[in-house]
Amino acid sequence: MERAYLRSTVRVEPLRDRSPPTHSRKVAALKTKTMKKRTLPTVPLVLLLLGPLAAAQGTKKTEPASAPAKPAATAPAKPVTSTAEPKTRLELHVKGLTSENLDKVRGGLSALTYSAYTCDHCQFQASEPGKCPKCSAELKPEKRPMFSSVMPTPGDSTITLVLAPNHVTRLSEIERALRVDSVSVDEAALPIAGQAELVLRGGKAESLSAVEKALQDAKLFDELHARWDPGHDEIRVTARAGATPPTRGRVESAIGALKLEIKDVVWGNASMKS
Ligand SMILES: [Zn+2]
Repeated sequence: MERAYLRSTVRVEPLRDRSPPTHSRKVAALKTKTMKKRTLPTVPLVLLLLGPLAAAQGTKKTEPASAPAKPAATAPAKPVTSTAEPKTRLELHVKGLTSENLDKVRGGLSALTYSAYTCDHCQFQASEPGKCPKCSAELKPEKRPMFSSVMPTPGDSTITLVLAPNHVTRLSEIERALRVDSVSVDEAALPIAGQAELVLRGGKAESLSAVEKALQDAKLFDELHARWDPGHDEIRVTARAGATPPTRGRVESAIGALKLEIKDVVWGNASMKS
């Protein structure tokens, strides 16, 4: 049940169907996906999701992802990426950003990369090395920028990041890069935007339903699901925010009575990795 849910939330499919996606098929795929979720979405939510989806696809240089109506019969062993994931925009409120360190901060964030593995022949993309499931060629590693866009603004002490889709970005990585230039993130004001995973410290496996209930009652996210990570003794909450994402401060006060704290926030296909 839990596994099935997670897969439905973060499932990504290999790009098998080469024909361009049609609007109606995307709607159908979205409906199929969302119907499986615990929190039943409304039609406006589906429509809401279509905007960023369409925008994200419009800017892609890789071939469009089509969400097949049926799951692929032979899924590859390793998780692969999908280009259907909408881009997440994060506006960070920071301390220590000045006109003097502006260029260094921008450079430091722009230099962050991640590894992707691509098939030269089919442009198939994966997050881990291996063979192309379509043509069996060896996937080639390449470094890609972690952010599609980095916009630091010293005047209002913000850094706006657009996360490159289809890979994992951790708040802790962003903070580490900023620390080099003595810039820190105002954590309470951090937006938990897009699809994110909250890593919670201080909980127990038994507290999952209490965590879900507290967050549901606070109405902060459109969708959420909590699971226990036995490897790290942590609660992980997969959450999808609506158009106005809640701040970390609001999330923390919603779960404050449970004596939990947010250890990290992970954007992208995080749940696949664990
Ligand atoms: Zn290939």
